Amino acid sequence: MKIFLRSFGCQMNKLDSNLVVNSFLQGGFEFTEEVGEADVVLVNTCSVRNHAEERVLSLLGHMKHIRKTNPKLIVAVFGCMAQRLKEDLLNHPVVNIVCGPMQIPELPRLVNGAIENTKKQKAVSENIRQKAESEILSTLDDFEQDFDSVEENLPAQAYVRVMHGCNNFCSYCVVPYVRGPEVSRPAEKIITQIKKLTDAGVKQVTLLGQTVNSYKTEKLSFADLLYAVSKIEGVEWIKFVTCYPRNFDERIFQAIIDLPKVCRYLHIPAQSGSDRILKAMNRGYTCEEYLEIINKAKEIVPDIAVAGDFIVGFPGESDEDFRKSAELIEKAQYKNSYIFKYSPRPGTRADEKLADDVPNEIKKQRNIELLAVQEKISEEINKTFVGKTVKVLVDGTSKKGHLDSANGKELPQLIGRTAGDFIVVFDGPANLAGQFVDVNITRASALTLFGEKK
Ligand code: SF4
Repeated sequence: MKIFLRSFGCQMNKLDSNLVVNSFLQGGFEFTEEVGEADVVLVNTCSVRNHAEERVLSLLGHMKHIRKTNPKLIVAVFGCMAQRLKEDLLNHPVVNIVCGPMQIPELPRLVNGAIENTKKQKAVSENIRQKAESEILSTLDDFEQDFDSVEENLPAQAYVRVMHGCNNFCSYCVVPYVRGPEVSRPAEKIITQIKKLTDAGVKQVTLLGQTVNSYKTEKLSFADLLYAVSKIEGVEWIKFVTCYPRNFDERIFQAIIDLPKVCRYLHIPAQSGSDRILKAMNRGYTCEEYLEIINKAKEIVPDIAVAGDFIVGFPGESDEDFRKSAELIEKAQYKNSYIFKYSPRPGTRADEKLADDVPNEIKKQRNIELLAVQEKISEEINKTFVGKTVKVLVDGTSKKGHLDSANGKELPQLIGRTAGDFIVVFDGPANLAGQFVDVNITRASALTLFGEKK
């Protein structure tokens, strides 16, 4: 039996897809890149932006044609969109299975059931805002432990979920409605999982959570977890994403200073520089409070690299509000920012209560302008690396090669990241993927540091 998998969305979804692939491989399935030769199509979906859902619907439309030549094709849709739309998605003519993010351990059983019996099947949380039953959480924990692995295409790196869900209800965000309330995974399970990964050659672990700094169990805070993970032999770099600015515990910054394995990098979305818009977004902080956190982080960890997120064109965003976002980028001196145009998501408070009143043309223009402000800062920050040596964990070969002037052949060019998450490109052999390499930086652009292997 052959499976074709398509995954949309964030790192959390990529991790889910990785777990699902490994569980099916263990169940004796094979994977194919050719949808035409697949017996089963798995689609991992994202609901964070309208565009992501449209792409899933367009893929399902394409499946209708494939089904004509392969009437037995099984189509299983899982992830956030499956949880959000439940029956509505199950009623789609091509869909056999709908499975929510909390139910992914059930996917092999559902697919095997659909192969034997063509009846449509659904496994979703009926009341997603209720904390999942302990049995479901423990099944998910075991699933993570059993099937987490080195990231495909990123040798020596693995992502490890430390918590599920979110309690913040930012007014534009669908996550609390599709991933449920915050639940921190037991530290012992996380530690066992990471030990297994390092035994398999993992050197960098990235701890994942929608609000990772809110991790809390009866015994441990997120800072405690960093100290515990740091003790694991074989882990060389620890990264964590994404942080939520409210309730930041200073002990996290102290842990970054105390623990050489913890990378000096924070991804801490602001979303807007205007207090009026932050309030409408229900972010729970003012621009000043946000900057205090960034400044505190920089005071305790002076060389920390900070990345931000912004939404442009949120309902009611005036030119003045937008200007404040640009000012915040200048003040925070982010190494980079992820900038998105607001798109209303059904079921969220912003969609229900606020008119999407910023025209798309203005959203586009603001997106371009904010990117330009950020690029200038990124370039200035990147240029400070020229002439310095940085330690890089090599991801693999970059899309473009470089020409060997001696014989005119194209040789691979390598791409990797520093502990501060700066992207570095340099010439070198492909077998350095998954290795740490010292690179002398010779030039820099807004997006990339270029250098030579030492
Ligand atoms: S913190 Fe806000 S934006 Fe982030 S996942 Fe939670 S609700 Fe969504």
